[in-house]
Amino acid sequence: MAEFDYDLFTIGAGSGGVRASRMSAAFGARVAVAEDKHLGGTCVNVGCIPKKLLVYASHYGTDFEDAAAYGWNLGPRTFDWARLIANKDREIARLNGVYGSILEKNGVELLNGTAHVLDAHTIEIGGRRVTARYVLIATGGLPFVPPGPGSDLAITSNEIFSLPARPERVLIVGGGYIAVEFAGILHGMGSQVTQIYRGNLFLRGFDDDVRTVLAEEMRKQRIDLRFGTDLVSIERRGGALAATLGDGSVLEVDQVLSATGRLPNTKGLGLEAAGVELDAFGAVRVDELSCSSAPNIYAVGDVTNRINLTPVAIHEGAAVATTLFGGKPTCPDHSDVPSAVFSHPNIGSVGLTEAQARHQYAELAIYKARFKPLKHTLTGRDETTLMKLVVDRATDRVVGCHMVGPDAGEIVQGLAIAIKCKATKAQFDATIGIHPTAAEEFVTMRDPLPPPTLAGSE
Ligand code: NDP
Repeated sequence: MAEFDYDLFTIGAGSGGVRASRMSAAFGARVAVAEDKHLGGTCVNVGCIPKKLLVYASHYGTDFEDAAAYGWNLGPRTFDWARLIANKDREIARLNGVYGSILEKNGVELLNGTAHVLDAHTIEIGGRRVTARYVLIATGGLPFVPPGPGSDLAITSNEIFSLPARPERVLIVGGGYIAVEFAGILHGMGSQVTQIYRGNLFLRGFDDDVRTVLAEEMRKQRIDLRFGTDLVSIERRGGALAATLGDGSVLEVDQVLSATGRLPNTKGLGLEAAGVELDAFGAVRVDELSCSSAPNIYAVGDVTNRINLTPVAIHEGAAVATTLFGGKPTCPDHSDVPSAVFSHPNIGSVGLTEAQARHQYAELAIYKARFKPLKHTLTGRDETTLMKLVVDRATDRVVGCHMVGPDAGEIVQGLAIAIKCKATKAQFDATIGIHPTAAEEFVTMRDPLPPPTLAGSE
């Protein structure tokens, strides 16, 4: 009889957990995965996928307007939130099913319920105890709402996808991915959006030009962006909410969306009993192989709070499966991870920001282009695109690529390969552009900006 019930017990059937489980099973391991919500985790249910569907929906408003300049006559337009949410729910249910069949086809046993770790090899689920040689924690993260008067009146990205109606007036708190994406989504659908951020410029961690340009573009669309202020309290006022801000102003809105970050989902899992160390935010501390302080317990994805992106979790999950059952210790590679923000307009980014590169390299060449996309020469829409390359002068390597503009994520995904291959600026220059595209600008920028003066440098 086998020493353990399973070779691998995964807690959490999100992106990372499912990839690790099915690959481990394909390597011949006996695998079970526990899930207490819907299959697919945050990304499928209340994250990337439904968000992107809402982003598509939100672009039609301006597309219909722009169509007029291209000769199209359109009748009166109305937007039906309930229909969109119902269609979105149908697609998410289909994806839940796809995840279930992926597990089934690969021979992974799915256990519905909340799992608790009793010791390093024992898990309790639904009143049953099972044992496993290895345990993988892939429980993701949960929205964090800063405590304060009336904070329970705010919703998070968990609730926004299933609201019965689109809020006419909304306050968005936070300056990260989720906050700017929902500012664009709701504004695009016709809501009156105010976004507040406690710092002086949102999207901390992104290139400063990207942050500045996105703020300019959002303000041009009349999104009420307020920096340097925070939420103090929320009170019910009739059917509405009164939100008091740090600058003393009071906003009457229909919803407050708190997009103030996410915390690793480890509370109540029992990890401490198994000797798993957590950091101050509750994230599982892991080494470069994603192994926790307990030698048979691994963790991947948002619960480790490394780079909280779906493709990274999948990559980490695959690496754990290869390490444990593929006979090859494999460290996930966290370098040059590209990402996109599906704001209006999109951001796409890979590699170092200019500020990060200035800390690493003695001398940089910065290439920048800001232009009106061809499409808007007819529509007259006041929207510009930004493209930026950060180049290490000593090696001529392009160490950062940044864009604000339509399809930035689609464009930067291709450039991420060049960055991963350590392409030089000369190789970018030797690449023929595809004309007429916005993307060709990335291979036609010839003149670097003048080097910063001492006063202007960071
Ligand atoms: P982020 O960490 O991106 O942003 C959180 C924001 O909330 C920051 O602006 C932060 O400010 C602010 N904040 C944090 N605590 C407080 C507080 N106590 N009071 C006021 N403001 C506060 O988190 P998100 O929730 O936007 O997204 C979570 C993660 O999900 C992202 O980091 C990303 O990894 C992932 N994601 C990725 C997407 C994509 O790839 N397109 C889309 C959505 C999410 P400050 O900067 O000052 O700390």
